[in-house]
Amino acid sequence: MQAKIAVLAGDGIGTEVTAQARRVLETIAAEFRHTFSFEDALIGGIAIDETGNPLPDETVALCQASDAVLLGAVGGPKWDDPTAAVRPEQGLLGIRKALGLYANLRPVTLYPELIDASTIKREVLEGTDLLVVRELTGGIYFGERGRRDGGKTAFDTMIYTEAEVERVVRVAFELAAGRRHKVTSVDKANVLESSRLWRSVARRVAAEHPDIAFDELLVDACSMHLIRKPSSFDVIVTGNMFGDILTDEASMLSGSMGMLPSASLAEGSLGLYEPIHGTAPDIAGQDVANPLAAILSAALLLRHSLKLDQEAVAVEDAVQQVLRDGYRTADIARPGEATVGTQEMGGLVAERI
Ligand code: NAD
Repeated sequence: MQAKIAVLAGDGIGTEVTAQARRVLETIAAEFRHTFSFEDALIGGIAIDETGNPLPDETVALCQASDAVLLGAVGGPKWDDPTAAVRPEQGLLGIRKALGLYANLRPVTLYPELIDASTIKREVLEGTDLLVVRELTGGIYFGERGRRDGGKTAFDTMIYTEAEVERVVRVAFELAAGRRHKVTSVDKANVLESSRLWRSVARRVAAEHPDIAFDELLVDACSMHLIRKPSSFDVIVTGNMFGDILTDEASMLSGSMGMLPSASLAEGSLGLYEPIHGTAPDIAGQDVANPLAAILSAALLLRHSLKLDQEAVAVEDAVQQVLRDGYRTADIARPGEATVGTQEMGGLVAERI
């Protein structure tokens, strides 16, 4: 097949790990006889430096004209002034909104080889295989906000419509049907009105899926159960801010931020694929970042936007083999264990494909 992929590498290690994800996609294209074309565009800090805008119009236009978007990460100390008029994250929020990426998928897969890299006990982790589906274009990150009283009072608004909740809950149920048939909806319905709306919509959609087990948790309880018994979860569906927090917590189950991919889906097949980690300024430019989260994001791109499931599995299997063969980047190595760099890790995955 032919596919056009927009590459938004961004800042810091974003550029390093995205280069390896692209290399893996090029290997897939060669091995499975597809034609993938790649086009680079600016986002985040580098876009501010070069154009003054964290999300130039050309970037949005390129993404809209592409089949999928591969993204690195944005931000860094250089652009960290909280009073600055433009910030790198505006690029990220802007592209999600512009492309209508309302469902963010974050699978947490436990690799047996890395179980000891987690700070959590092996017996707690065993059997963990969960997917967080986070609503991405609504909620408190997009509600009205501002200052009053000469700046001394600040407010943010958590706002959801039934339609926004329903479409993301439907995605969760569809994905659960291909997994272990369980959905947990997470909210704060004991306090928040927007959560009570969320809950009523989730129950209505659940009633249409008698074959899928359904339960509800308050976000505080969920954060506790995630590290108490992570294997009890299959698909978790939740709002934008709760999902943001729970996915970082869940990331520690797998041992490293460097292992976790994500997919952000719009209506239709367009999607944006990025590792969940940031730009890691502490290790940027040293060829030590783990590229596997970015590479696994490329696997999600193959599966969800290009519908190339066999190719996606080939990438995931290659990652597993590399780990089984004992190769580790520094973040997932045990003390004293030999490590490989970013580029070498990308090459090892490509070789196995
Ligand atoms: P971070 O994810 O960049 O780093 C957190 C820690 O994890 C660091 O110690 C880092 O070295 C390590 N780490 C992250 N990814 C790794 C990888 N692939 N391999 C090895 N180690 C890895 O989070 P942070 O330090 O809070 O943020 C740094 C910058 O990134 C900030 O400017 C922040 O705004 C930005 N950020 C961007 C995104 C995004 O673009 N999606 C997400 C989170 C943070």
